Amino acid sequence: MKTLIDHALVITMDDGKIFEDGCVIIEGSKILYVGEKTESVPFDRHIDARGGIVMPGLVNTHTHSPMTLLRGVGNDRALNEWLCDYIFPLEDKLDDEAVYYGTLLGCAEMIKSGTTAFADMYFFSESSAKAVLSAGMKANISRCVTGTHNDYKKRLSEARQLFADYDGAGDGLIKIEHSAHAVYTCSREAIRAVAEAAQLDGTGIHIHLSETMKENRDCYGQYGKSPTEVMRDLGVFDTRTIAAHCVYLSENDMDILKSYGVGVAHNPTSNLKLASGVANIKELLDKEINVSLGTDGAASNNTLDMFAEMKLAGLLHKGMRLDPKLIPAEAALYMATVNGAKTLGRQHECGKLKAGFCADLIILDADAPALVPVNDPVAGVVYSGCGGHVVTSMINGQIVMENRELKTLDIEKIKQGVLQAKKRMGL
Ligand SMILES: [Zn+2]
Repeated sequence: MKTLIDHALVITMDDGKIFEDGCVIIEGSKILYVGEKTESVPFDRHIDARGGIVMPGLVNTHTHSPMTLLRGVGNDRALNEWLCDYIFPLEDKLDDEAVYYGTLLGCAEMIKSGTTAFADMYFFSESSAKAVLSAGMKANISRCVTGTHNDYKKRLSEARQLFADYDGAGDGLIKIEHSAHAVYTCSREAIRAVAEAAQLDGTGIHIHLSETMKENRDCYGQYGKSPTEVMRDLGVFDTRTIAAHCVYLSENDMDILKSYGVGVAHNPTSNLKLASGVANIKELLDKEINVSLGTDGAASNNTLDMFAEMKLAGLLHKGMRLDPKLIPAEAALYMATVNGAKTLGRQHECGKLKAGFCADLIILDADAPALVPVNDPVAGVVYSGCGGHVVTSMINGQIVMENRELKTLDIEKIKQGVLQAKKRMGL
């Protein structure tokens, strides 16, 4: 099956190459050619993308997709109160079916707003894996481990079973990673055991790191070290790590993340909404630490729209540092694509449009009033673009949305499933 997409403005994210009247040729799940339009080639499917912008699908490197079920719960509270008084009690009422439908809703929202790959940390993760496979999305899924010496073991054994059953499923759509929730929800033994499991399975780890001032203060009180130092000393960074938030890092913490090649998932909306603070992205970028973007869960954002995250990341730090040159549009777009793919360990697979890479791409309606005229394509996408501009989306060569119509998911059925789950949870 060969697909030709032509007459589009193509932003490749590959060495800054942009083609004004570009075309992309896809064979099976892979990109065969990207460039100016070629002599006519035989194809089975033709997408005339005239008036459109073709670009890599966005990569959301930190979310909890089933938390769409808790969207709008416990607003306007700080993290600790939000988590302990609102979220944890409701999460105790979740079941497999709720997580299945919550993940499907998350996938529908992400596809609609241009995300093609994401990193998901939650529980009932087999249900999430099934949902992601039926959506046809790409995801690094981890069964989140929390707990003390006695009660983390069952959770970790579920995580290892998930790895055995689902890693590589869907022709590589799914990667299973391990996850220790955070220093404040896991004992030292639990974190060490998660790190060892990741080594044994040869996979990555997904954690929350230095999200709030309280987390750092309590960690120093308990261990006499920063959360970053604790995670390093317990062996977490010996494997590829996604560290979400990283709002309160010392110079030494940053050097540690740099030396272990840890990927930082920056979640500006969630950090602002929970009043956690603002990560020092300038310093992280100055040290050439890989910074990507995440929405966090829909209960602290309250959407999974990576265009909104990208714009906020592009603006927030300029205002904080009174420096308009800080995080230019291109850097924000790199965070949402190339850097995101690297954080997920998928840098040879997605994040840019390049021959040999997977066909993970989106088409934006550049005829939308907010995108006219396209004087600077990258700034247009970052500062004027929004999730609603995405009309078509392809993942591993499969069209998952065409002309705004979801092809793999039945949104009405998903909404019904979500409403029933909400009822069971007493919401
Ligand atoms: Zn999170």
